[in-house]
Amino acid sequence: MSGVTFNRNRVKLKKLLGIRSRLALLAVLLVAPLMFERVRTLEESRAKQVAQASEEYAALTRHAAETQREVVSSVETMLKSAAYIRASGGIARSCEILRASVPTNLPWIRSIMFVSKDGLVQCSTLNIQVGMKIGDREYFRKAQETGGFVFSDYLFGRTNGRPMMMAAYPVAAINPEQDAVVVSGINIDWLSQIMANLGGRPGMSALLVDSTGTVIAAPADHASMIGRPLDAVPLMAAIAEKALSFDEPSGSVSFTATDGARRVLSFARISGTQSRLIVSMDEAKVTAAINRDIRTAYLQLGFVCLFVLLGALIGAEKLIIGPIEMMTGMARRFGEGDWSARVAKNKLPAEFLPLARAFNAMAAQLSQRERELVATNDRLTVMASIDMLSGLANRRGFQSRLDFEWMKAQQYNSELSLLMIDVDHFKLYNDTYGHPEGDACLTRLGEVLAGIAADTMGFAGRYGGEEFCLLLPNTEAPHALAIGETVRAAIQNLGLPHATSSFQTVTVSIGVATTRPNDTQRPGDLIEAADAALYAAKHGGRNAVVEHGFVRIVDEAGMALAS
Ligand code: GH3
Ligand code: MG
Ligand code: MG
Repeated sequence: MSGVTFNRNRVKLKKLLGIRSRLALLAVLLVAPLMFERVRTLEESRAKQVAQASEEYAALTRHAAETQREVVSSVETMLKSAAYIRASGGIARSCEILRASVPTNLPWIRSIMFVSKDGLVQCSTLNIQVGMKIGDREYFRKAQETGGFVFSDYLFGRTNGRPMMMAAYPVAAINPEQDAVVVSGINIDWLSQIMANLGGRPGMSALLVDSTGTVIAAPADHASMIGRPLDAVPLMAAIAEKALSFDEPSGSVSFTATDGARRVLSFARISGTQSRLIVSMDEAKVTAAINRDIRTAYLQLGFVCLFVLLGALIGAEKLIIGPIEMMTGMARRFGEGDWSARVAKNKLPAEFLPLARAFNAMAAQLSQRERELVATNDRLTVMASIDMLSGLANRRGFQSRLDFEWMKAQQYNSELSLLMIDVDHFKLYNDTYGHPEGDACLTRLGEVLAGIAADTMGFAGRYGGEEFCLLLPNTEAPHALAIGETVRAAIQNLGLPHATSSFQTVTVSIGVATTRPNDTQRPGDLIEAADAALYAAKHGGRNAVVEHGFVRIVDEAGMALAS
């Protein structure tokens, strides 16, 4: 059992290691380095693109901070100009100039106002603000204390409740004798619009936060975050913590957020203020496009491999397996003895031509050799069925001729007769004249029988020893009997001396049998009948012809003695 399994496994293994799989393996080996190179390049480009994106965003953060700083500095410039106006004259005059000179092309400046020392708004480009008291505001006091430009944190406007920032500049910075303060309301919507330029990229979010971590500005899609502390927003808490824990003006940090996403955080402080711009990048989302490209590339790679493999297999099938199978088929036909089979050379690749030529030459040679063998075999068959002494067919030759004639007679429903001829007292002949003389006598008798066979369309043979037979196809009993008599007379008339025979010459006894072959009889029955008749002829005194009545169909009379 285990032996069988082992053999089966070996066959399987052989098939696995067959020429197709070897070629496929070769193709894979050829493609593999290319594939590995491509994969390496792809992975490298993924890493490069991630690095490039994060570098790009860091630059973007810096650039956005710059832009914000420009806003802040333009506000500062505006406030300083207003301070000059205030310093140059009384409140009524300077208020008039202020209202006339405030540029309308700076949309982030909501209003500019002159505030008295104790915080009363005396003049404003927005009428509604006149009379408001802002003396308690931190930025206002800070401006008075520091004597320099102050930018407030995020706060709600007193007039409209909208989020805004304030900037303050004491006029004392220009003229120490003046104690008024110039204050400006900064429109935060405008900041958010600038911020919007930072959004729009998948996986990116940009926020402007003040020193307490409150969101001052955000792109439109994060507008709801404006006014909320950063750490109240899920995910952003970690970002806030990271961003606010750094003292450097700008930087970048990479960490895994609570949602498991890998994030890169870039932040930059806006100079002159406590605000920071935070750009957060979700690495997975940013690299999604890159990953998609890489997936496509892998897919293409897979297709190329599949294509190469298929190509190798089809090529192998057409260029190698096909020709081999063709020649195997030829070899099989040769094996079955079909020497006419030839390899069609025009269907083969050039590499197989020498093999095909050798195949065809071999087929031609083998075919020639087989023809010679058949001829030799035919000669041998003839020799094997001929008796050398008498020149007649031997028993084997006679037997096969009898089978053939039997079949033919059965087919044509004709009669078949057989003469069994035995030399009388031949033992005595040998004793008297010697064995060689006996042989010569048999040769002589053979010649006589051959002659009579030719005349009667019969077939003569030496049945064995001194016994001959003559097969007479298409011959009825009376005619057979007559031919028997002809034979007997011809041999007696030869006059070969036989001193120890009662007839003084060589004579023969002949048994005749005739039948119309049918399915109930065998050729052996005809021989037996002729033998029985021969026995009767011997018994009757020799040198006689006896016909066997049993197999005779036409005449039922039984044995009849010829003279
Ligand atoms: P019968 O009349 O009853 O046939 O007597 P017979 O002597 O012919 O018969 P038997 O069967 O007793 O003897 C046959 C003899 O034929 C014996 C054998 O020596 C001889 N014989 C058989 N074959 C050959 C042969 O090839 N050459 C020679 N010279 N003699 C042969
Ligand atoms: Mg005999
Ligand atoms: Mg005899």
